[in-house]
Amino acid sequence: MRKPIIAANWKLNKGPSDTEDFIKSFESRMSDLPKGVDIVIAPPFVSLPKATELLAQSKVRVSAQNMSEQDHGAYTGEVSAFMLKEIFVNYVILGHSERRSIYGETDAIINAKILKAHDVELKPIFCIGETLQEREDGKLEEVLRTQITEGLKNVSEKQMLDTVIAYEPVWAIGTGVTASPQQAQDAHEFCRSVITDLYGVSVSEKVRIQYGGSVKPDNASELLGQKDIDGALVGGASLEAASFAELIRNGVVD
Ligand code: PEP
Repeated sequence: MRKPIIAANWKLNKGPSDTEDFIKSFESRMSDLPKGVDIVIAPPFVSLPKATELLAQSKVRVSAQNMSEQDHGAYTGEVSAFMLKEIFVNYVILGHSERRSIYGETDAIINAKILKAHDVELKPIFCIGETLQEREDGKLEEVLRTQITEGLKNVSEKQMLDTVIAYEPVWAIGTGVTASPQQAQDAHEFCRSVITDLYGVSVSEKVRIQYGGSVKPDNASELLGQKDIDGALVGGASLEAASFAELIRNGVVD
């Protein structure tokens, strides 16, 4: 039985003081939430120290939204895996479609970042997903297989068990259009079959695959009720503590 994991991707929202407000409001709702779920928030870099400090005694874990594949040196504007570790960050989102499409991150760069994260025991939330054009052209499986295989090159079996996959169809991110539960389940089942090809069934049965793309409190239950969907990566609906808490309550049954 895989433990669901629900993560809040705040993107370019919430500096340290908004982060503090959110955490206080969210923590006041925690007693009403199901217990059998891992909850993660991913604020922008400048808000990570505030988040890890306020959540030091909490079950809520903290994720970065990106990091460099480099350790140090002349890489202006970058943040390393070691730096994230030093401020007690637990997870890092890698390969988000906005990083791929706006900042030109390739499968090779994402692979280097995933390996670097594992070097310091940061858990990657590894995002994959097809564009609408790719889906309409019948390339869904080819795109997912390539992204998974290239992104996970040289990732060991043990590291794979500490990797979360986030299947996020690009056409569903921030658009209000959600994949139907069946479309999402089919894609998740396919992703798990690729992990089986790479690592065998005993690993693939344990790897958690989140769905992301316009998950809201009112569709969380149906999506997370699918056999191969092990949680959600949530953008818009994670910005308000009340909505994020409701989404978790609706999506997870203890
Ligand atoms: C995301 O940014 O990963 C995401 C899924 O966003 P939204 O929930 O707003 O579609």
